[in-house]
Amino acid sequence: VPRWTRATVAILLLGAACGSSRKEGRLTVVASFYPLYEASSRIAGRAATVVNLTPAGAEPHDLELTSAQLDLILDADVVVYEGGGFQPAVEDAVAKSSAAKLDVLPRDAKDPHIWLDPMRMSAAAGAVQRALSLARPSEAAGFRERERAYSAELATLDRQLRDGLAHCARTDVVTSHAAFGHFAARYGLEQHPISGIAPDVEPDPAKLAELADFVRSHGVTTIFTETLVSPKVAQTLAREARVTTAVLDPLEGLTSDEIKAGASYASVTRENLAELRKALDCQ
Ligand SMILES: [Zn+2]
Repeated sequence: VPRWTRATVAILLLGAACGSSRKEGRLTVVASFYPLYEASSRIAGRAATVVNLTPAGAEPHDLELTSAQLDLILDADVVVYEGGGFQPAVEDAVAKSSAAKLDVLPRDAKDPHIWLDPMRMSAAAGAVQRALSLARPSEAAGFRERERAYSAELATLDRQLRDGLAHCARTDVVTSHAAFGHFAARYGLEQHPISGIAPDVEPDPAKLAELADFVRSHGVTTIFTETLVSPKVAQTLAREARVTTAVLDPLEGLTSDEIKAGASYASVTRENLAELRKALDCQ
């Protein structure tokens, strides 16, 4: 038997053992919306190509998938997403994919907005690191190192939020949709959302009148709007209650302009902190 034949057989066997030759190159990681995309990209480094399913400037709730995105999910090595009905189309596609699947929403969490709490975000980053390490054990040390650096940044943000929101004249935060539940619980605030867990559900007039009363009677100074959802209802409420509006970004995605300007989870969180400190009169 010529030597080259034996070598070819060995390579073929190796290829079969690894499932396919594609596995030898960069991993393909699909993340379903921005915070998971950022965590995956930071941890993957150059070992993976990471794709965000939610386009820039789009809002991720109930995301609809193109057929190209469906194929991407089916062919991916790892899919990072949130279950619990946050993006049902993604969950359906993930069920059909042979990729490694990471649902970062804890089993008992009813509210999907875990990423707004940096400590829960850090837990999700740890899960991403473990999923990538399982998919590509030879890169595990790099994944762990980058995850430690990313989680250290999140811990710094947590300290800044804790310090910045420790001594405030008020704790009531009126938000556009109910995105800040986990955040409010972490930092001792109370969230009063205009619409529910999903941003596209319009509140009824009775609910708005009730909120306007609350704003007036509790000395609330600011109604918070969002970057990716129309501010119309929030502006109406602010006019009725004679208070101002400001942006509190639920970090569900970045706009193209924000991406161009180099915005990140950390930079947007710091802007949110500054807006909250102003609105709540924090020392
Ligand atoms: Zn949301």
